[in-house]
Amino acid sequence: MKYLEQMILSKGKVLPGNILKVDSFLNTQIDIELMKELGKDIYAHFKDCGVTKILTVEASGIGIACITAQFFNCNVVFAKKSRTKNMGDCGVYSADCYSFTHKNMNTLIVNNEFISPSDTVLIIDDFLANGEACKALMSIVSQAKAKLAGIAIEIEKGFQGAGDELRKQGVDLYSLAVIDKMEDGKIVFRS
Ligand code: 5GP
Repeated sequence: MKYLEQMILSKGKVLPGNILKVDSFLNTQIDIELMKELGKDIYAHFKDCGVTKILTVEASGIGIACITAQFFNCNVVFAKKSRTKNMGDCGVYSADCYSFTHKNMNTLIVNNEFISPSDTVLIIDDFLANGEACKALMSIVSQAKAKLAGIAIEIEKGFQGAGDELRKQGVDLYSLAVIDKMEDGKIVFRS
């Protein structure tokens, strides 16, 4: 997805600690035309997998998950990072996850009514860094005894290794941009 790479190069900022700031088009302000193109691209890759549900994590995965879900004609479920009062006392699937950006532990929680063994789930997130969020979401899919179609990521930071590890495990991981190096403010993409 060359267009995404161009946007990252022109509008992204490399922050200390291997953080890429993309809040002018992906995170805080969302470029809907770009999202639509990314969603179509994700659909083209997974269209024959029988996806019945898209699973993401609040908050930054929700935008791309919803736009992509229109092409699959399916619903989106997002994991919450804490149990809120409006969840009542429903049963949940849960998995612990260390946040790369906030540097704290969260327990991802999904109401267990929303994913069932008959579902084929596509996991979507904005970034893949150390793979903690994706591994927690995969655990939720497996707790639900649902089938995992694969994982779609907007930006994989390939130099952190989690993506290649997941591919080695046989996961169909589709990243729209893979960054191999992010040094001295310079970004190098995997070709
Ligand atoms: P992981 O769980 O793979 O270590 O990190 C992925 C999560 O951390 C994503 O959900 C994303 O919100 C956040 N994240 C990781 N790296 C970055 C980054 O470089 N920039 C931004 N904006 N978010 C990141």
